[in-house]
Amino acid sequence: MHSKRTISRVIEAPASMEGEGVPIRRAFPSHEVPQLDPFLLFDHFGGVVLKPGEAKGFPDHPHRGFETVTYMLSGEFEHRDSFGHHGVLKAGDVQWMTAGSGLVHSETPAESMVRDGGRLEGFQIWVNLPARDKMKAPKYQELAGREIPLARSADGKAEVKVIAGEALGVRGGAETHIPMQYLHVSLQAGAVFEQQVPSSLNGMLYVFSGAVTVDGKTIPQYHVGALASTGENLTVSADEPAEFLLLAAQPIKEPVARYGPFVMNTAAELQQAFEDYRQGKMGTIG
Ligand code: FE
Repeated sequence: MHSKRTISRVIEAPASMEGEGVPIRRAFPSHEVPQLDPFLLFDHFGGVVLKPGEAKGFPDHPHRGFETVTYMLSGEFEHRDSFGHHGVLKAGDVQWMTAGSGLVHSETPAESMVRDGGRLEGFQIWVNLPARDKMKAPKYQELAGREIPLARSADGKAEVKVIAGEALGVRGGAETHIPMQYLHVSLQAGAVFEQQVPSSLNGMLYVFSGAVTVDGKTIPQYHVGALASTGENLTVSADEPAEFLLLAAQPIKEPVARYGPFVMNTAAELQQAFEDYRQGKMGTIG
């Protein structure tokens, strides 16, 4: 039997500043919502037009034990790491970085953005890794915006960029360590989007434009709607144009020991991560 997937709670993503002064909305972690296993953090950054000289970033910092997934909607971010990796993320691009055993990286606005200003907007999501994958060698998947597959509903009113998983018969290109869906859904007024989200996956919607409704419950702009743990048929509708991300993944269900940029299973592993970083084992940016 196929049953409805409903919303268990709606959480606001409050506005704050991060890094050197990047405006963000962080849906979680928070006191009430430490994580939505396996999603450890959800940031919607920017959404603003920056003046010349205003664009700020995240200077050198380490990561170990999870993945950071960055999706740019507008603006350009530059990325460097302690293994010599360097790239520029442009509007529409996704960088799926498996930090694994650890690296040091910097995420800064592209020089032209700092000089000329402009609109900056995107998302960074932290995805946990199961214990067996935490110490894997770091790895990047770079998905160029133009290569991200696009799916459309039969009536053309719902359009989906499929980053990971499958929607409307179209498969995304990101390889994940656990079953996962990462979709960017754009709805026209009156659209109805239907998606299978098996109850074995934890899931959430984040609405960044307009508002959507799931089974009579409204999720306003800048809010997360966490999916209830039962059912599989998700139906999202919008009276006015709206955009949201749909994230769903199999929960890892392991102990989480996290502090700042490290996410491990035990306090001893966390200690080791700090020690390894201090000793330069995660490298430095030359
Ligand atoms: Fe980072």
